[in-house]
Amino acid sequence: MSSAIDILNYTGGKWLPSKSSEMQDVINPATGEVLGRVRMSTAEEVKNTVDAAADAFPAWRRTPATERVQCLFKLKSLLEDHFEELSRMTTMECGKTLEEARGETRRLIENVECSCGIPQLMQGYNSEDIARGIDETMVRQPVGVCAVIAPFNFPGMVPFWFLPYAVACGNTYVVKPSEKVPCTLQKVFGLIEQAGFPPGVLNLVNGAKEVVDVLLDSPAVRAVSFVGSTPVAKYVYSHATAAGKRAQCQGGAKNPIVIMPDADMGMAARITADSAFGCAGQRCLAGSLVIIVGEAKGRFTEAIVDAARTRIVGYGLDDKVQMGPVITHQSKARIEHLIGQGEKEGARVPADGRGTIIKGYEKGSFVRPTILDGLPPEGEVATTEIFGPVLGLIYVESIDQAIDLINGSRYGNMGCIFTDSGAVARKFRYEAEVGNMGINIGIAAPMAFFPFSGWKDSHFGDLHGQSLDALEFFTQKKIVVERWPKEWTRKF
Ligand code: NAD
Repeated sequence: MSSAIDILNYTGGKWLPSKSSEMQDVINPATGEVLGRVRMSTAEEVKNTVDAAADAFPAWRRTPATERVQCLFKLKSLLEDHFEELSRMTTMECGKTLEEARGETRRLIENVECSCGIPQLMQGYNSEDIARGIDETMVRQPVGVCAVIAPFNFPGMVPFWFLPYAVACGNTYVVKPSEKVPCTLQKVFGLIEQAGFPPGVLNLVNGAKEVVDVLLDSPAVRAVSFVGSTPVAKYVYSHATAAGKRAQCQGGAKNPIVIMPDADMGMAARITADSAFGCAGQRCLAGSLVIIVGEAKGRFTEAIVDAARTRIVGYGLDDKVQMGPVITHQSKARIEHLIGQGEKEGARVPADGRGTIIKGYEKGSFVRPTILDGLPPEGEVATTEIFGPVLGLIYVESIDQAIDLINGSRYGNMGCIFTDSGAVARKFRYEAEVGNMGINIGIAAPMAFFPFSGWKDSHFGDLHGQSLDALEFFTQKKIVVERWPKEWTRKF
């Protein structure tokens, strides 16, 4: 008998199988094993899910915030109890190492913790006597039914940049996970079921583009959060906003790391390798271009090539493995094509991951860490998001040239610099057009209590995920101006 999980929808507090005949296997990218089967929900099933969320909204928004967060406290405790199981599932469906998956689950939980502060965060403000006897107050109210459309690379964490804040603020919610990795959220929703949320407050609907389109067309959905590639982010943002919805859409990236000649080269190479090859380069904050300034050239190049060649690649559940597979064979083929393209554009390939086969995991979609040395900055590969363990090295003569290159990019998700000069670091902080920045840091991932702040084609909308931006996104402000004439008290 197959142990593959049948992925279900969670609608109005009930687990429902989809009736759709369109089905997809969920594959462990390291072993090739079928982990689950996911059906692409029908339009009617998506509509029913949105209706369930809409029906639950009036009572949930009337539930005091102090009561709403009790479900989140309970969820936090359940997530801690199932921490290891969730992390293992993430490794199995997504490919990252168990250590990386544990990091992801921790971030997921931190967002639940942060959202438990909503009773205070959601407070408004007021002014007495804006004119004689007239007071003005701002109160925050929830928006209604909200939805998130998530990518494959962080199956558990990304929906939690939004979900806990949305429901803590009194909204009801629909989650559409990536059809490539629906298993982790299936388990998380098993815990949500036990956490005491009333039916319909949190809902799960599986599928791909067709499901997204129904959500975008549903008048009851008032706000949409999206995380994924830039073309789809643009599509979702334009459709959602044209329909009058709030939207925040996080897109792709091509993240540069600048190496100055005064950097600690050992540290810079080690951290850059972790940034570029961690999660097999499938992080929106992965460093994918290194801009090497002046005399940093020989020393850094040697160290990073060595780090790439010696990284241990294999199944993320096995001990000592430092990098897992990429998500699918199609993804592997695309990445290998782009490595070839970089070579054609004139780059050397001193570490070449093409054709990787891992003993014992011959069905896996592995690409070893790859270095494209001397990549032309204006070429296709230097400007395309590869989303794999491929690091391009570009050489320039000054910090000004490095910043000009960064600011010429269409993306602005993250930029990092390694230097021991405070003045250079300050110039970089001030001038580089990126929303998340690392100074002697390789992955500048904001904690749950800071917004995840991509710029340019890495983000469409103004408010980001997490923290106070999430509070703003999931509440609408109501301004009340009131007069209670003094003489009316005479009646009493
Ligand atoms: P994707 O854009 O292919 O898919 C994301 C979601 O959109 C999925 O749920 C998918 O089902 C849905 N989708 C796909 N095509 C669609 C279409 N044509 N119309 C409507 N919906 C569609 O992204 P992915 O491959 O799952 O994830 C990788 C991408 O996500 C990378 O570009 C990465 O940089 C980006 N990402 C960005 C961030 C960030 O914070 N900026 C974080 C994580 C991942």
